[in-house]
Amino acid sequence: MLVCNFAVQSHTMKIIRAEHLGMCFGVRDAITLAVKQSAAQPLTILGELVHNEAVLASLQEKGIRIQHDPAAVNTPAVMITAHGASERMMNRVRERGLNVTEATCPLVRFAHRAVSRLVEEGYHPVIVGKRDHVEVRGLTEDLKEFDVVLADADVDALQERPRFGIAAQTTQPLERVRHLVSLIRRRFPRSEMRFVDTVCQPTKQRQTAAIELARRSDVVIVIGGAHSNNTRELVATCARYCARVHHVQNAADLQPEWFAGAETVGITAGTSTPDTLIDAVEVQLRELSSRLGSISANTSQNKDELEYSVASDAV
Ligand code: SF4
Repeated sequence: MLVCNFAVQSHTMKIIRAEHLGMCFGVRDAITLAVKQSAAQPLTILGELVHNEAVLASLQEKGIRIQHDPAAVNTPAVMITAHGASERMMNRVRERGLNVTEATCPLVRFAHRAVSRLVEEGYHPVIVGKRDHVEVRGLTEDLKEFDVVLADADVDALQERPRFGIAAQTTQPLERVRHLVSLIRRRFPRSEMRFVDTVCQPTKQRQTAAIELARRSDVVIVIGGAHSNNTRELVATCARYCARVHHVQNAADLQPEWFAGAETVGITAGTSTPDTLIDAVEVQLRELSSRLGSISANTSQNKDELEYSVASDAV
């Protein structure tokens, strides 16, 4: 329950949702598959299916186990997450004689195929992404040679190669990927360069919608797990266009003082954030408005655009 202990100016607070936000089809399908498989036999998921504690807790409540090492799996069935895995990891799992289900997102598979093709065609593979991220490990663990770049300094550290083949972790902001690709081009003008855009469509849509949202908002609330890479990327993107951006994991994290004087509050969420959490945050914002004063409850049925009035004498 939110308690407001400060005075707020009278204003109308408009709450808007990003046009694209929240859980992507890849994560949604993986969760559905995990629940279905676990009903047939005890299941262990290898790694975090999603970087969201609420979702993981609800899976564990259904008896689904989570392990990071195949050697620690003691159920007959094991699932590879939407992030995918290398062949090396898959072999470790198969060697244990486990019943393997792959929930690898088709767009991650596309990235795997793109990297394999670049290598087959003689390009030195460079992945734009986070070196320790599970998806990047899956993309690189089978490669003899590769580089991972995330910042300008990583490009400075690259050795010259006759041919560079560049792909990206699916959840990287396209702006960053394009920047690093052009930096590599400029740094190695004599090298042949090939870039395959493997940033997934849901990530692009969420990033573009987040920019649009942040431009229109006085305050932006980004909902997602503390360890969710794409949620953090959304926070960073919004912060370039809006000075008041807050990352919350759930409705209880909302602080009333964040909204002082705000006319428009934008909501967006990472690709592992379930609808229930997004709805709960919106409900809590509505409750906050009501506690601050009386809501002039614009009872618009349009869920994407609700308006609330905040009274001046609220405490
Ligand atoms: Fe697939 Fe993109 Fe979702 Fe990853 S973020 S699971 S690549 S749709």
